[in-house]
Order: sequence, then structure tokens, then C-alpha cells
Amino acid sequence: MNRPHARIHPFDCQTAAIHSTRGIFCNRTLNLRTIRAIGYDMDYTLVHYNVERWEEQAYEATRLRLEREGWPVKGLTFDPQRIVRGLVLDLELGNIIKPNRFGYITRAAHGTQMMDFNEMREVYARTLIDLSDRRYIFLNTLFSISEAWLFAQLVDLMDHGILTQVPTYEALYKTVRHAIDTTHMEGELKAEIMQHPELYVEPDPDIPLALLDQKSAGKRLLLITNSEWFYTRFMMRYAFDRFLPKGMTWRDLFELVVVSARKPDFFSLRAPVFSVVDEENGLLQPYISKLQSGGVYLGGNAGLIESSLALSGEDILYVGDHIYGDVTVSKSTLRWRTALILRELEAELECVESARLQQEQINVMMETKEAMEAELSALKLDILRKEHHYGPTTETPEAQLRQRAKQLREELVALDNQISPLVAEDSERVNPYWGYLMRAGNDKSHLTRQVERHADIYMSRVSNFLFYTPFMYFRSPRGSMPHDMPTLEIPPSPHLTPRPPTLS
Ligand code: IMP
Ligand code: MG
Repeated sequence: MNRPHARIHPFDCQTAAIHSTRGIFCNRTLNLRTIRAIGYDMDYTLVHYNVERWEEQAYEATRLRLEREGWPVKGLTFDPQRIVRGLVLDLELGNIIKPNRFGYITRAAHGTQMMDFNEMREVYARTLIDLSDRRYIFLNTLFSISEAWLFAQLVDLMDHGILTQVPTYEALYKTVRHAIDTTHMEGELKAEIMQHPELYVEPDPDIPLALLDQKSAGKRLLLITNSEWFYTRFMMRYAFDRFLPKGMTWRDLFELVVVSARKPDFFSLRAPVFSVVDEENGLLQPYISKLQSGGVYLGGNAGLIESSLALSGEDILYVGDHIYGDVTVSKSTLRWRTALILRELEAELECVESARLQQEQINVMMETKEAMEAELSALKLDILRKEHHYGPTTETPEAQLRQRAKQLREELVALDNQISPLVAEDSERVNPYWGYLMRAGNDKSHLTRQVERHADIYMSRVSNFLFYTPFMYFRSPRGSMPHDMPTLEIPPSPHLTPRPPTLS
């Protein structure tokens, strides 16, 4: 077999990848040996795009569309830094927000302007984000970046009275959504991408190899994409064929190909299916029987896939990049096993790695700070009890306690002045506006919570499977709960009532 681009050898296994940017991370234990079929999404899963270029093109096409309709959008420009996946649009207030795993807001912008901490607290102190509320739009995919930035810019124009076409931020969003939707569905954008794929597509020669391994190991491979047939065929040829063994094409990898799948509805509704009978011209025929191996289908639903393959739920792993459309719905309605592709993980983990030394420095200072805070609290309590004449207290005179408390307070301020800039610097490493993707302050981000709940495994790209082989038993880590952390030795406290020894 010719393997012109095979860069990953079977023995380049696991240990090399496990803590690196190319790792596969496991939330829920998954034994690949028990998986009978693996379904793949195409865009941003099997085919990765240059996000800046793709989104700029989608942004510009949408902006022009609005300009033609008389909107005051001339001169607006795209800025890929300003939006990241996992943020949430607040349609009531025209804000972009970053919630943590509990739904509390940790960063916010109104339109394009970042809010400072006090402003944000004033607006959101009593707000918990619930994504089922239509007020909020979660940015599920890299395709959301152009839409969110355009929305933010138009909020500014509304605030300045320049844009008067719509009465509310919600109506504004609906217009932007519709315009982006049309841009994706009309031919122009895709025609430009297909004309210059080298500008937009970033082929990964190792992905075809990973799929070949899975196929040789007996996995039945499926392609289930929302893209239309001609675009799918073009992209798969471009991204796969030259990296496959001679005489083989991308079609030989997949038992079933489903295009224009209309996910997420594909997973929850029962839409009819059509067979693509003439692949050159895209001629369709309504189809009612079992899907045939080697066939290309349009539409349909996941139930048909299960019945045609005689497989169900736990037998099928679906791999996609859209947190809701690929992962949340396939898991919640069909109990398919799920893998999420998050390309941003690579940059994120590189930053975590490069910040490791500084993070250790911060940890040491935080430990000192916690010990000082504990001592200060004990001093305050000792003073209180002395003042109110109850409970066990220390022998130390009150004046001496107060002196020590004062000294501790001063030392804490000095320590905070050392810690704060380091923490601020760290949080801006990945993105100066929104910080780490997977974290929100000291906690997990809302995106991380979604990933934890719905993706059994997650990774930066499909070729990371090569480090693990198709026989891998992914096990979720033990010990992620707060009480799993090593506990501090609690020293004997003068503030506890001494207990009499228990009788045995
Ligand atoms: P998939 O990720 O392979 O399922 O396919 C994604 C397809 O959906 C691509 O063809 C995108 O152009 C298209 N797409 C992404 N965002 C939108 C949208 O907002 N409206 C309509 N189509 C979209
Ligand atoms: Mg996709």
C-alpha cells in the first residue's frame, strides 16, 4: 500500500499524545472495540477550513447582501479575534457574554465594547444563563464567528441611531441570521471556495489514514453532512483522494453517504430520504427501502441509518464539530456515542503548556495566601470570642492578636498585588478579549460544561485517532470531584471544644 503522507506510525501510540495538543480526552468511558459504525460530519470535522479566510468571506458576502438592501454597513470590517466559539449572544440586551459552567457571566461586551467588571456585575449579578431560553444564542461552531461579529457591530450602529431598520436587538439578530443563512445556502460563497480551495481548505493527510485504519478494523464508516452533494463531492475529493492508496477514492471509505442531512432534525425527526441516482448531475429519486451499501442519499433521518445497518444507539459513534447539531442531539435523542472535534484545543493546550511555570508560581502564592487567610480568620474569631466571653480561646493577649491581624492584612494586599497581574496575563494568553476557551475565570466555561455533558470523547482533529488505534479503550479519569483533591491536614484548633476521649 502506498502511504505518501503517513506520518503517524502505529507505535507512535498513546503516551506521546495523551497530554499533548493531539490527545483524545475522555468524559465517558468508550471502548472503540464495541463500536460497530462510525459516522462522520464533513465541514470542520473531516475537512478543516482556514477559519479566518472562510469566515471573512462569509462575513463579507453577508455584509454586501445587507448593503444592497440599504443597510448602513459600508466600511464595516471583519475581526477574527473578537469572537470565539462558546460565547453566548444576549438578544435582549445586545450583549455578548461568556458564562461559566453554572451559567454565571464572567465576561461581557455590549456590541463591540467590552464591559468592565462593575458594569457587568450591575447588569448580570442576578442573571443565570439558561440556553433553553430563546433570549440566548450559544455559538456552537466556528461558522458562528462571522454572524456574531456582524451582530455586535450592528448593535453599535443601532445604539448610535445610525441603523433604524429594526426596532430591537432581537429583530436585528433575526435579520443577520437570515442573511447569513442565505449566504450559506446560495451558490456564490461555495462557488468561490470551490474555485480556490487552496485558500480555504487545510487538508490533513493523516485523516484519510485514520479512517483507513478504522475501516480495516471492521468499522462501518458513514458520512453524514449538512452540505449539499456537489460541494461534498468536491471537498471530499480535494481533501481525501490524493492521500489514499492508488486507485482508491473517498467513496470507497464510506458504506453510506448522506448529504443535505438537515442536522439536528436528522437525529430527531423522520424526514424522507432521496437517492442520488445520477451523481454527475445530482438527479434525485424518492427512496423508501433500506439504504444500500455504497449509496449516496439526500435527507432522511438517523432512524433509517439504524434500521438499514441493523445497529442502534451504543453501536454507533458520531464525530462532529457542532456542539448542538452533531453531539447534543445525537446523544440525547438516540443515545449514539459522541466525539466532538474542537480544533481550538491545540492553541489552548499550547498556551496552558507555555504558562505551566507561571501557573506553578501562581499556585504557590495562592497556597500562601490561603494559609494567611485561614490564620487571619482564626485571629478574628479568637478576638470575637474574647470580646463576647464564650467558647475556648487562646492565651494570647488581645492587643497582640490585633497587631498580628493588621500585619497579615498588609501582607495579603502585597501578595494580591503580585498575583493579580500574573492571573490577568495568563487569562489573556489565548484570546485578549475572552481568555481561555475551556475556562471561565478559575472555573470551567459553559462550553466545557456542554462538552462534558454531551461528548463522550473530544479532540482537536480526527487524525488524533491515529495515536490510539481503532482498538482503544478510552477511560474517563477518576477523581474529578472537589472531595477527590488531596485534603489539607487540619491542625488542632484552639477554637474547638476539646472532646473527651471516646470509650471503646
Ligand atoms: P456539516 O458540518 O458537514 O454538517 O455541514 C455544514 C454545512 O452547513 C456547510 O455546508 C455550511 O456551509 C452550512 N452552514 C453552516 N452554517 C450555516 C447557516 O447558518 N445556515 C445554513 N447553512 C449553514
Ligand atoms: Mg461540521
